[in-house]
Amino acid sequence: MTNDRKIKILPEFISNQIAAGEVVQRPESVIKELVENSLDANADTIAVIVKSGGKNLIHIVDNGDGMSREDLALSIKRHATSKIVEFEDLEQIYTYGFRGEALASISAVANLEIRTKRLNDELGWKLSGEPNKLEIIEPFNADKGTQIFVRNLFFNVPARRKFLKADLTEFRYISDMMLRFALSKLDVRLTFYDDDSLIFDLQPGNLAQRIDALFGSVTSQSLLPLKIENDFIKIDGFIGHPHLTKKSKSGQFLFLNERSIKSKFISHAIFSSYEHLLEKGSNPFYVLNITLNPKYFDVNVHPQKNEVKFEDEKLVYNMFHKAVTETLTSNNLAPEISFKEFQSMSPFEKVNVNNEFGNHSMFVNKETGEIVNSIPKIEPQNFSSNFNSGYPNTYRDRFSQPTQQFDQKKVSAYDMIFGRSTNSETNHNIEHEDFSTAKIPFNQIWQMHYKYIFVQTAEGVKIIDQHAAHERILYEKASKAMNKQFSNCQSLLFPGIIKFTASEYAIYQEIKEDLINLGYDLTEKADQEVQISGVPLDIKTGLENQSLREIIEQFDEYQKVRETTRRDNLAASYSCRNAIKTGHKLTYDEMVQLVDDLYKCEIPYACPHGRPIILEMSIMELDKKFGRIL
Ligand code: ADP
Ligand code: MG
Repeated sequence: MTNDRKIKILPEFISNQIAAGEVVQRPESVIKELVENSLDANADTIAVIVKSGGKNLIHIVDNGDGMSREDLALSIKRHATSKIVEFEDLEQIYTYGFRGEALASISAVANLEIRTKRLNDELGWKLSGEPNKLEIIEPFNADKGTQIFVRNLFFNVPARRKFLKADLTEFRYISDMMLRFALSKLDVRLTFYDDDSLIFDLQPGNLAQRIDALFGSVTSQSLLPLKIENDFIKIDGFIGHPHLTKKSKSGQFLFLNERSIKSKFISHAIFSSYEHLLEKGSNPFYVLNITLNPKYFDVNVHPQKNEVKFEDEKLVYNMFHKAVTETLTSNNLAPEISFKEFQSMSPFEKVNVNNEFGNHSMFVNKETGEIVNSIPKIEPQNFSSNFNSGYPNTYRDRFSQPTQQFDQKKVSAYDMIFGRSTNSETNHNIEHEDFSTAKIPFNQIWQMHYKYIFVQTAEGVKIIDQHAAHERILYEKASKAMNKQFSNCQSLLFPGIIKFTASEYAIYQEIKEDLINLGYDLTEKADQEVQISGVPLDIKTGLENQSLREIIEQFDEYQKVRETTRRDNLAASYSCRNAIKTGHKLTYDEMVQLVDDLYKCEIPYACPHGRPIILEMSIMELDKKFGRIL
């Protein structure tokens, strides 16, 4: 009869080895578990020392609560945990550990030594364990806290030992994980040594200080603070300026209640807010923490505990998208070559000149470039009516106003550039609806090489890339049309028929609903033929068929390389293919219209590919270059 029995209960140490496969994959995961245990034990000082990428030694020292002799003996038994008592506790887990598997698993695949002492105990205890041997516990003289030594990881499981990578690679895994602790446990002093070199020793501090210490000042000076909060969720931290990008995603740190997590959909939400400010293939930098009641998510998806399931993913997605977009737009993102600090009420600048006529000073009207010898008397109130609140130095104010509809913005580009607010009481004589009265004067806008538009401003000159600017305008219009914020269709007097190839037709099928929202009026005929009875307003007459084909072709390209939504790819394809080209001569009216439309955009500074649209050169900077001022 006994021969019929095939099922055996595994000896405990074998089941521990199997469990270890889940919890302990490499030195990095051992360290993660041990540091989490120290944090759970309320340590506020933790040191991590590794040798040979953690393969030969992992040593953790903490000043936490420590353990009694009994707890020490239990701590390496499977499913022994001090952290869950009731089943209901599983619903709301505030500690890192709760499975009681880490120490048991580690002790099955390495030599483990634990030294520990509680504050009020007279003596500490030392446990020495070897896989599959009875552990030895003896009294030990120690300070309050716990020290753990993990030696020769996987020495008894050659297959797994072989699977480990080169020391340097294992070290990289470890340091990436240590970085995540450093960026989330701000009130803990964290020290990290590799062999005998100190990698970092971080005092408790704020997030900005930690970023500065870990990434250097180039990074810490390019951060935009982000904070958004409602009754349900809080997100705060920093996002990087769009120029602070990386080819890999290694500058992206996301935490949930101070635990490092990975979330594809949150990364996507953040990335999509940046999309049009970044060059292709680059990734933004961010360190963000979500604060959320544990009952609204589940971390128990995987033993590594960095995958999270949110109850309401859509809400979290939208919160991130909104917060990042708002942070980016409320910060001036134009690539600047002007002096931002410069703030003056007077348009007159005293200039010292040293030339063949001797050394003398004169006054220059910065507004007009005119040289005046004496300053005309101007009453203070005249200044305020002429220049309102001085010179515009950032567009922050504009963006902090409630976002207005594309077609309803009351402030003309001219007002914007010259800093005249149409809301101002002193300007009540300006007709808001009539932009033509506030046009840029004829001699203050010109085109260079059929490529760049120069606009003279109060501060100097703005240089605008005409193709990129138009691309931006069309892109935002297309996005709004697809969100059905306005109707963008013009009917054709003579509908045309377009015959698609099989692959074009497949793409057409995929995006036809959005094409219609974009402003196309399309009817399907037989044999991959489609009738075009209406097109978006900006499509040029005569180019209806060609441009639709080009949009489809471009969309197909973008699908392969851009990590974004279908709609967004369509908006980008549409704007790229229909924007005025470099080499196209523009009339005065067209230039004014273009500048006007550009400044009504949500993000006028970068085209959908991330290249800059506007550069600024201040009169101050020119004056400096010409040696007029020092
Ligand atoms: P878990 O963290 O899931 O409870 P572990 O195997 O990681 O499981 O740890 C088992 C137990 O050992 C913990 O519940 C805790 O009581 C104790 N322990 C482990 N590390 C420490 C430490 N650094 N300081 C104090 N107690 C510890
Ligand atoms: Mg643990």
